[in-house]
Amino acid sequence: MKRTSRDIRTANRYGVLRHVVAASPVSRQELAAATGLSLATVANLVGELLGLGMLVEVGFEDSDGGRPRGLVAVNSSKGALIGVDVAETYIHAELFDLTLTVRARADAEVRPEENDPAEVVARIAAAVSSVVQQAGVAADRVLGVGVSVPGQVDREGGVSVFAPNWDWHDVPLLRLLAEHLPHPLHLDNPLRACTVAEQWFGAARGRDDAVVVNLGTGVGAGLALGGTLHRGVSNSAGEWGHTTLVLDGRPCHCGNQGCVEGYAGAPGIMRTLRELSPDSPLLHPDGQTATIEALGRGLAEGDPVAVKVVHTTARYLGAALADLVNLLNPELIVLSGWVAATLGEPLLAEVREAVAVRALRRPLANTEIVLCPIPSNPVSLGAATFALEGSLASVGPKNRRTSPRWRGTPV
Ligand SMILES: [Zn+2]
Repeated sequence: MKRTSRDIRTANRYGVLRHVVAASPVSRQELAAATGLSLATVANLVGELLGLGMLVEVGFEDSDGGRPRGLVAVNSSKGALIGVDVAETYIHAELFDLTLTVRARADAEVRPEENDPAEVVARIAAAVSSVVQQAGVAADRVLGVGVSVPGQVDREGGVSVFAPNWDWHDVPLLRLLAEHLPHPLHLDNPLRACTVAEQWFGAARGRDDAVVVNLGTGVGAGLALGGTLHRGVSNSAGEWGHTTLVLDGRPCHCGNQGCVEGYAGAPGIMRTLRELSPDSPLLHPDGQTATIEALGRGLAEGDPVAVKVVHTTARYLGAALADLVNLLNPELIVLSGWVAATLGEPLLAEVREAVAVRALRRPLANTEIVLCPIPSNPVSLGAATFALEGSLASVGPKNRRTSPRWRGTPV
């Protein structure tokens, strides 16, 4: 896809807003320095964002001997954004103001067998309605809802193309959701949501080449290359969880065998535990979350089985991450997702060692591996920033005809 001048203008507008969110209040001069755009371009874009009510003038600051500089800030009360993290084991919705500060939350557990699309859709809609109600926001002030679902998605069509752990094929998710919700809807997956959250608010801020590895039931990598989210030609880049780690290895939901996910995803870690210690009390046969949490507690208590399971998992993960290091030479790898959050520092330490054993020295020399530092849920935060991006692309004087936002026409 070619980038048109309109795309570039939308991206610049988004870039300016991103810096205002990060550094509010801020002058146009500071924005020009931070974005690398000319002062005239920044002044123009700020004018547009003021016109849209996304920004407000908040006063002046003295500049050394020069004229006082006008300061702008995000107009937090202009509207609300909602981000929903739909995972195989839970649904988590958050409502944000325009500074991306959380104003309300709603959670629901999902059992693995409760994966009928109609049921999942009803529960997403209920979670969204709940946060809108809790925050006391009028429906027409919700600028957009970003929904992240596992697997591959067609974001333009609003379709979940393939969710291997649910066996979903071509589920028209946004059309189904639009039957329940009146808001503009945006779809993507957790790999890209996590990556955008890290770029805006987390470890990848100011880093050009970063890989955000999502460890949950599924496994994948979000790629920020050259400072930009890399989507690939069909929004499918980063399906590293389904690259082959073990030839003829464990069967995977995707139809392949020996995928990274089969060793580093929660069900894969459970299988490793079962193989090492079939009768371990750490094993909760029906509960991924309960088992990973038990492993986390076991690590803290020095339980030898837990230590062994995490060591084995880190060796698999380290080998697969070394491929990413050799292939992409990233500045940063972020371990994100609920499994990484639960196993925390002990997993990180083992992973760093395992990567060092496998990766080539030169590409690895400048690669830092860290845990996700975002204190709240990075997926719902990232999903909300997609909604913000969508609302920016769909409004404004020059962009009326180019809305990528899903408008509710049947697909
Ligand atoms: Zn697979």
